[in-house]
Amino acid sequence: MTKTILVLGGGWGGLTAAHALRGMLPADYRVAVIEKRKSFVFYPSFLRAMIGEKKDLTHIESPLKNLLRKDLEIINEEVIRIDPANKTVYTSAQTIQADFIVIAMGAELYPATIPGFNEYCLNLYDTKGAFDIYEKLKNFTKGKITILVTRTPFRCPPAPYEAAFLTDWFMREKGNRKDIEISVYSPEKYPMPSAGSQVGELFVQMLKGHNINFYPEHSIKSIGANKISFANNTEITYDLLIGIPPHGAPKAVVDSGLTDTSGYIPAHPQTMQVLDSVDELTTRYSGIFAIGDTAAIRLLNGAFLPKGGVFAEEEAHTVARNIVAQIKGEKAAAQFNGKGVCYVDVGDEMAAEGSGDFYAYPAPIVSLEPPSKESRKAKHEFERIFETWFNQ
Ligand SMILES: Cc1cc2nc3c(=O)[nH]c(=O)nc-3n(C[C@H](O)[C@H](O)[C@H](O)COP(=O)(O)OP(=O)(O)OC[C@H]3O[C@@H](n4cnc5c(N)ncnc54)[C@H](O)[C@@H]3O)c2cc1C
Repeated sequence: MTKTILVLGGGWGGLTAAHALRGMLPADYRVAVIEKRKSFVFYPSFLRAMIGEKKDLTHIESPLKNLLRKDLEIINEEVIRIDPANKTVYTSAQTIQADFIVIAMGAELYPATIPGFNEYCLNLYDTKGAFDIYEKLKNFTKGKITILVTRTPFRCPPAPYEAAFLTDWFMREKGNRKDIEISVYSPEKYPMPSAGSQVGELFVQMLKGHNINFYPEHSIKSIGANKISFANNTEITYDLLIGIPPHGAPKAVVDSGLTDTSGYIPAHPQTMQVLDSVDELTTRYSGIFAIGDTAAIRLLNGAFLPKGGVFAEEEAHTVARNIVAQIKGEKAAAQFNGKGVCYVDVGDEMAAEGSGDFYAYPAPIVSLEPPSKESRKAKHEFERIFETWFNQ
């Protein structure tokens, strides 16, 4: 008897899972990805687009119809509801029954929930926003550039700080830096809080070294033309505003009753099976997994696993191996270990390699290497995903 495996979401995690499954299962097993967008979008490249290193969509987006694997079924529809008990998915056009479901729907952006965001803020987290930032930076010669984190959690915790370092570099290269003030405002206590206070302090010192102001614990109230109001009753002015919009679980996931107090789908730290709650390791359904940004994993220090593509990718491989093992009647022994490496852009063609063991007890162990050109090259290696998956 063949089986149907549905992967919901064709982003970094979902396409990794689908490729891994397709590679391990016979052709008569159905592996289908349900994705609402026409293209795969690779968010890390937004940081290159914002400083003009990407002038077109190469290594940012690729149409799903250009996937090299033609035996990977892509259903270009929106998931409306998931019935995990009956392993049934309702899309905008049909109802599909599955044997296994991998939920990889990421985090949804909710910019409209902040008054003024859509009107006044350049969105660092979408393709158009990243290109718009470049157009503005190109012509900006004098004044205040503000980078605003609106809410936590958000995908890729270092990204706003990377955007600040890249802006500093871009303006130095252009010869305008001395006339420009760069500031980051965030509700966080320090950058990348789940990595611990030491890494946070290192970031604060790096920001200082680049003459970038950092204002922690600032929760946004509203954004006006050239003015931002915070919940602590302070107001600031800006000339150019770059923002990270609020994130939340996709509506379909919320409507399906899969989220808990974390706001996302509680998932088992090792197997990614959907749990009753993020603080109890009781598996809620068999054969239903949540990976990547849509999942919430509680760490041993009480924080959550950061939302990052490297984690989504490893989780995808873990889940794929376990699904195949179950199909073969073997023990599902693969376990995600909470480890990951990232490369933090700091300008001057350099990046700092960060390695994290997020499941360490009593708290994650994260180290940050000194910046180097090699690390920036290693960061760009992630873009190979396009050559591996797509006929560009
Ligand atoms: C500026 C920036 C830089 C980053 N840099 C790095 C980095 O250097 N390293 C790193 O590890 N991570 C990085 N990240 C984070 C990384 O991109 C994400 O963590 C990763 O994309 C998560 O993968 P995912 O599959 O969980 O979600 P996504 O990639 O967001 O994919 C989810 C998919 O589900 C689809 N979907 C959602 N709802 C529905 C629905 N109802 N029906 C059908 N489809 C749906 C979406 O359209 C989307 O294609 C960065 C992020 C940003 C924004």
